[in-house]
Amino acid sequence: MELSGREFLDSVLKQFDDVADTLGIDEGVKEFLRTPKRALIVSVPVKMDDGSVKVFVGYRVQHNNARGPYKGGIRYHPHVNLDEVTALAILMTWKSAVVDLPYGGAKGGVRCNPKEMSKTELERLTRRYTAAIYDVIGPVADIPAPDIYTDPQTMAWIMDTYSQIRGQPTPEVVTGKPVYLGGSEGREEATAYGVAVCVREAAKRYGISFKNATVAVQGYGNVGYNTARILHEWGAKIVAVSDSKGGILSNDGLIPEKVMEHKKKTGSVVGFEGAQNITNQELLALSVDFLIPAAIERQITEKNADDVKAKVIVEGANGPTTPEADEILEQKGVKVVPDILANAGGVTVSYLEWVQNVQKVRWTREEVLDRLDRRMVKSFNDVLEESKKYGVSMRKGALLLAVSRVAEAVTTLGIWP
Ligand code: NAD
Repeated sequence: MELSGREFLDSVLKQFDDVADTLGIDEGVKEFLRTPKRALIVSVPVKMDDGSVKVFVGYRVQHNNARGPYKGGIRYHPHVNLDEVTALAILMTWKSAVVDLPYGGAKGGVRCNPKEMSKTELERLTRRYTAAIYDVIGPVADIPAPDIYTDPQTMAWIMDTYSQIRGQPTPEVVTGKPVYLGGSEGREEATAYGVAVCVREAAKRYGISFKNATVAVQGYGNVGYNTARILHEWGAKIVAVSDSKGGILSNDGLIPEKVMEHKKKTGSVVGFEGAQNITNQELLALSVDFLIPAAIERQITEKNADDVKAKVIVEGANGPTTPEADEILEQKGVKVVPDILANAGGVTVSYLEWVQNVQKVRWTREEVLDRLDRRMVKSFNDVLEESKKYGVSMRKGALLLAVSRVAEAVTTLGIWP
């Protein structure tokens, strides 16, 4: 069941209220952080290929910039609405703060169906939307990035439109650009690399031998496949993977690249030679050291949480575990490395891309991944310490850490004018 925009925003605010109460945050500061600093709604008229004009609605919500420029993706989807964009902007503030990036949080979107639009229509939509939000974005003000149905090409159009209006090439106004236009090496696998670092650190902290640790991965796209590939390269044993059509299991271990070749040929991981076909539900219930949901939200719910036999869940996807399931997992002693930390590798390399653009330097893939690795280790340990300090789960620990960092910044800056 999908949450409506309002329900999603309510749940994000409720989560915040709980954490703010635990931290004893001042009521005024609490109210300040419940309210985005700016929410812009723009009309985006586009000349369609058939000569007609369609008007789309676009948003850019800037939640908080006490710790640095706003940062957050732009999404193109028929369901985009103000509540959803606001909730996502708030979550971006917390995500930047968890990994200690000098950024605040924002999110944008255009309500449209990109699957029904041509490339030239999408280009005109992107350029008009960029012009409409031009005044509030910028390399030291608000730096967009890709999200659902936007990609490096979309970022190139935003960069070009912004640069043309400003009269200066400004690659640092967006991240997630193609590498030859100032994008960063390592961006493609950044989120997965961060997930893999969390698995490695969790193994250390929870006394699990990483060599031959058993891993099941749900979802075999950018995050799922690359996580499986990196963990396999580091010596873990990938026993099961899945996609929307179903999953496969091999107790001897799978070779992720070979499974990807099969998926490219047949459209799915299902039917991979030498492996047994299983369902996604069976995958989630496997007795493994690590379970990595890397597909879509709300996969572990109150209906199947009790079946989970993994020692540790590392959330590659956003919101794969419902709050009800979280309680069940906690009672069962299953450790959860939460999405806000586990999949922050993407935004971290976005930051590293921006740093390279601002300094006019280029780092190699190894240099980027090394910086990412160190930041993820530090963040993992920070979150674990915070959760120990308060005697709470890592999910709550991550949010406590994020909110306390932002609240401290807001309080120190004060109110002006
Ligand atoms: P993707 O589209 O590349 O891959 C998604 C995979 O999930 C596909 O293999 C698809 O078949 C599978 N899938 C879809 N529905 C499924 C279902 N019901 N059961 C099992 N598998 C299913 O997407 P991605 O970029 O890898 O993103 C995956 C998750 O990670 C999303 O929740 C996304 O928000 C999150 N995330 C991605 C990034 C990133 O940088 N790509 C960053 C942060 C978070």
